[in-house]
Amino acid sequence: MTSTTRSLPTLDEAIARAERRIIDNNPESRRRYRRACTVLPGGHTRQTLFYRPFPLTIGRGSGARLYDIDGHEYIDFVSDYAAGLFGHTPQPIHDAVKGALQSGISLGGLNTKEVELAELIAERIPSIKQVRFCNSGSEACLFAAQLARHVTKRSSLVVFNGCYHGGFMAYGPVDAPLSVRFPLHKATYNDIEGTRSILRNNAHDVAAVFVEPMMGSAGCIPARPEFLRMLREETSTHGSLLVFDEVLTSRLHPGGLQGLHGIRPDLTTLGKFWGGGFPFGAFGGSYAAMGCLDSRIPGALLQSGTFNNNIVTMTAGLIGARDLYTPDVCTQLNAMGDRLRHSLNELGKAHRVDLQSTGVGASQTIHWHRKPILDPRDVEPPYAATRRLFHLEMLSQGIYVAPRGAVNLSIPISEQDVTGLLGAVDRYLCEFGHLAASIPD
Ligand code: PMP
Repeated sequence: MTSTTRSLPTLDEAIARAERRIIDNNPESRRRYRRACTVLPGGHTRQTLFYRPFPLTIGRGSGARLYDIDGHEYIDFVSDYAAGLFGHTPQPIHDAVKGALQSGISLGGLNTKEVELAELIAERIPSIKQVRFCNSGSEACLFAAQLARHVTKRSSLVVFNGCYHGGFMAYGPVDAPLSVRFPLHKATYNDIEGTRSILRNNAHDVAAVFVEPMMGSAGCIPARPEFLRMLREETSTHGSLLVFDEVLTSRLHPGGLQGLHGIRPDLTTLGKFWGGGFPFGAFGGSYAAMGCLDSRIPGALLQSGTFNNNIVTMTAGLIGARDLYTPDVCTQLNAMGDRLRHSLNELGKAHRVDLQSTGVGASQTIHWHRKPILDPRDVEPPYAATRRLFHLEMLSQGIYVAPRGAVNLSIPISEQDVTGLLGAVDRYLCEFGHLAASIPD
């Protein structure tokens, strides 16, 4: 018995073994990665996709399956960080895009799809009366921030420590160096009293409060409803705009998380699935705010972008949201996500291991402790050893989850796929449960 215990690997040994396995089993990905390192800093062009020993190169996908270039198959639980909601081969989107391409690309004029997509967004998300498109969630957040500053004629933003509003607006205790240096007041997520006093003390100066109604990349941390209600009340009282960043969360309820909570922000940013799998961003809101962009009015604000209404995104986005992600499908997918989260938490308890999965519906993150998670300080760093081992071991079991432990369901994910994930986690906990702290008796 004692000798068995002594032979169990340490966390570092287990990671080294798992990395070795990835290296040995993926010679093609390794070759590609080495080649990429010469011309792409760090061998990639998207930070989120990086992990050690090297990120696998994915050759193709089909439904909810991915295949790397060394021929391994994975059930895809990353879903391109929520943008791949439709899976990899949604026939109606493929057909519609092919059809649109027949009529030509880059026509440099208005097209028929942009108004239909805008109407659909306004119908699904009633706080959005008017909307403008751009090419990414990052752009959408930047446009929304500048618009809020213009509308209110105030300069500063309230953001939450550890928030991620895209590549230009990521603010932690240390701000991402490439982020825009707006005048900021940093508050703590879910801290009602602290945030209220920041808002009251700076009432004359705050243009907008930027909030993700569930912090996504920080670890799928849901906002407390009373926290969001406080933000709505205080911003209304003090004349600041409330901006909901729903780039990730708009897929979690038919009307976005604002629909779930029954709160109407002044501005909303969107991205990811709304582009049907293609580059997309949008910001929209009240007539009062969006009206500043009305080109028929002298002094209207300039908001442009060559590809803002590109026909591929407009077509794919419309078909995807209108015909595939109907409110019913959305409700079912998120119910499946809730069940998965519950099952993962039960599995952790059954193994007496400190595992918890947090989130809302179809988006969740697995954490390796059981203390309450209310803001990003409660989350271990994305590359913590426990996360790294879990990610590498899931890959070797054919399960594709994000290195930071995030899981996003896509429409083609089946109940059997979910059972497959739970089985893989069960096997992982049998083998490595001793490396995660145990729940005391
Ligand atoms: N805001 C949030 C909440 C996001 O999750 C993301 C993307 N992960 C962005 C903004 C940026 O979107 P994009 O990657 O399309 O620029």
